Amino acid sequence: MRILVVEDEPGIAGFLKQGLEEESYAVDVAEDGRTGLDLALTEEYDLLLLDWMLPGVSGIEICRQFRNKNVNTPIIFLTAKDTVDETVFGLQAGANDYIKKPFHFEELLERIKVQLRTSEKSSQFLVLGDIQLDPSTYQVTSKGNPVDLTKKEFALLQYLIEHKNKVCTRTRIIESVWDIHFQYNSGVIDVFINAIRKKLDIDQKDGPIQTVRGIGYIAKDQ
Ligand code: CA
Repeated sequence: MRILVVEDEPGIAGFLKQGLEEESYAVDVAEDGRTGLDLALTEEYDLLLLDWMLPGVSGIEICRQFRNKNVNTPIIFLTAKDTVDETVFGLQAGANDYIKKPFHFEELLERIKVQLRTSEKSSQFLVLGDIQLDPSTYQVTSKGNPVDLTKKEFALLQYLIEHKNKVCTRTRIIESVWDIHFQYNSGVIDVFINAIRKKLDIDQKDGPIQTVRGIGYIAKDQ
């Protein structure tokens, strides 16, 4: 899951990036409206967190322009504005939710999870054969036994299972699981995949996570 944060206060932006990365999300930060709009329109995100007052292009304008092109990706506003009129204005521009500054990170995280669950339209658990993932608690089990994955391993496995029975290209995986500053190195994905296979005790060749030579990986229901 990849999130774009558009926030011009470096302290808040850094706090959000660190907190969300600790929760296994890949996070890109834009500190002005123009950069934020460009990223929103050119990169793939699962959710946008937009500040309202931004230099260059306002959060509301980003929201409007983004909604014209992308109907489904959830948008949450971070705003110091709290009058009813302005909140309605934000929702009319296409935002799904808003949270008032100052906010508790826990509350923001809950709202993010609600939006991502709603947009996925999926059940809470992700299942691949004997493997079960619970994105709300980061718990993984294989044949009923708990498996201890790192946050990045979890994010990668989650992505593969969400796209199961389809080939996931290395580019798509990197774009969804790592942030924009990740230096492309396909060897890194192999290392993570091998770690996941080892921890889940699944066969490299015939197991549910298979390599598609020269392209990427596929998670297969078996
Ligand atoms: Ca601001």
